[in-house]
Amino acid sequence: MNTLAIRNPANGQLITTLPADDATSVATKTTAARVAQPAWAATPMAERKACIERFRSGVVRDLESLAVTMTRETGKPVKMSRNELNGLLGRIDFFLKELELSVATETVFEDGGMREQIQHTPLGVVANISAWNYPWFVGCNVIVPALLTGNAVVYKPSEYATMTGQEIARLLHEAGVPPEVMVCLVGAGAVGSALLEQPVDGVFFTGSVATGQRIAQAVGNKFIKLQLELGGKDPTYVCEDADPKAAAESLADGAMYNTGQSCCSVERIYVHEKIHDAFVAAFVDTVKTFRTGDPMAEDTYIGAITRAPQLAVLDAQVADAVAKGAQLLAGGKRAAGPFGGAGNWYEPTVFANVNPSMELMREESFGPIIGIQKVSGDAEAVKLMNDTRYGLTAGVYTPDQERAQRLLAQVNAGSVYWNCCDRVSPRLPWSGHGDSGVGLTLSTYGIQTFTRPKAWHLKSAG
Ligand code: NAD
Repeated sequence: MNTLAIRNPANGQLITTLPADDATSVATKTTAARVAQPAWAATPMAERKACIERFRSGVVRDLESLAVTMTRETGKPVKMSRNELNGLLGRIDFFLKELELSVATETVFEDGGMREQIQHTPLGVVANISAWNYPWFVGCNVIVPALLTGNAVVYKPSEYATMTGQEIARLLHEAGVPPEVMVCLVGAGAVGSALLEQPVDGVFFTGSVATGQRIAQAVGNKFIKLQLELGGKDPTYVCEDADPKAAAESLADGAMYNTGQSCCSVERIYVHEKIHDAFVAAFVDTVKTFRTGDPMAEDTYIGAITRAPQLAVLDAQVADAVAKGAQLLAGGKRAAGPFGGAGNWYEPTVFANVNPSMELMREESFGPIIGIQKVSGDAEAVKLMNDTRYGLTAGVYTPDQERAQRLLAQVNAGSVYWNCCDRVSPRLPWSGHGDSGVGLTLSTYGIQTFTRPKAWHLKSAG
C-alpha cells in the first residue's frame, strides 16, 4: 500500500503516516464523483448553502484544533494559523452572500416573442491541486464556490498540508456534502499527476510555476478550463514623501509574515534615495523585533520553513547576492531553531545595495529574506517593478493618492496596493499576470468561474 509520511518541519519529527492514493484509487474516486455530481447539482441551492453554513460552524467549533494541526504540519506560527481560519470565515460569508446573484439566470434581451438568456451551469467534476502555505485559503477559494455552484470536487492537497486537507473534507462531509462529491486525495506530485489523467471538467491549481507548466502541458490537449495561481516576485516602491518608519514597519511585516512563505509576500523593495537610509534603518530595527521560536508559542513570529529544499534556494540567493556586492544587514544563514538544530529554520535576512542581476531580486524567495534597492525616482521605480516575469501584486507607499494611482496603473500586476501590502480580499478578484498565472479566484468572478455560461435563444411559438 502507498503511504505518505507527514513530518513536523519545526522539529523534523514524524507526525503520522497516512495511507495514500494511487492511480487506481484516483480513477475510482473520480468516477464516483462523476456519478454523484448531477444529484448534487440538482440539490436546491438553499440546501447546498446550508451545507456550507454548517461547514463554517464546524470550522468555528474546531478552530483551535484545526490551527494546531496546520501549525504542526506546516510550521506556521499558531497565531497565524488562527488568523487564517478566522479570515476564511469572511471568505465563506462572501461566497454565501453573493452566490445567488452571481449565478442567477440573466435575461439579456426580450422583444417580439424572442428572449435571450444566460444560464450558469456547473462545470461538472473539478480537480483542485493545491499548495501548503495557506492551505485553508487556497483550498477553500476553490472548494467552497465550486460546491456551491453544483460541482463535485476532487481535491489533492499539498503533501505538506495533507492533514489540513483531510480536515476540510471531514468538516464538509459532516456538514452534509456527500463523500463522493467532495473527495480528498492523499499523496504527492504523482497523485496530482494521476488526477490529471482523469476526465475532469476543470483543473484549478495553486503552486509553483514549474509545476504549473507541467500541469498546463498535461491538460493542454483536453480543452478544459485551466486556472493556475502561481508564484510572484512582488515589488513595492517607497516614495520620498512617505513616512520611512511607518512604511518600513508595514513592509517588514509584508515581507516576513508567514515566514515569508506567502504568494503575495513583498519580495522586492525600491526606496527613493532621499529616504533610503532612514527606511533601511527602520526596516532592520523592525526585523530585529521578529521573534523566531516554537511555532506553537504565542509570541513566535518567524516559524519554520515548511519545505526543507527551500533552505538551499535561500542559501543560493544569499551567496549570489553577497558575491555580487549586496550589503548584508541582518541574518544571512540557516538558523539552529528552537529544537537544537532539528527542523528547517532560516534567519530573517535583509540586504541593501542589491541590483536586478541578483537572483534575490529576480526569483521567488519564499522565505524570510528581502532585498532593498535605492532608486532615483518614479520612472526608475516603475521600470524596475516591471522588470520581472511575474505579476501577482505591486505596491506604492506615498501620501499622494494621485501619484500612487498613476504609478500603479503602469505596473503589470493582478493586484495593486496603495500604502498597504500582502493583502487579499474576498471581494476582489485574485489573479496574476505573466508567470503568476491565468484565471482567478475570489470576487463574484471567482464564483462564476466554476460555471459554464449557457446561451438560451427562446422564441415563443405564437
Ligand atoms: P508545488 O508546485 O511544489 O506543489 C503544488 C501542488 O502540486 C502540490 O499539491 C503538489 O503535490 C502538486 N504537484 C507536484 N507535481 C505535480 C505534477 N507533476 N502533477 C500534478 N500535481 C503536482 O508548490 P508548493 O510548494 O505547494 O506551493 C508554493 C508555490 O505556490 C509558491 O510558488 C507560491 O507562490 C505559490 N502560491 C501561489 C498562490 C497564488 O494565489 N498565486 C497562492 C499560494 C501559493
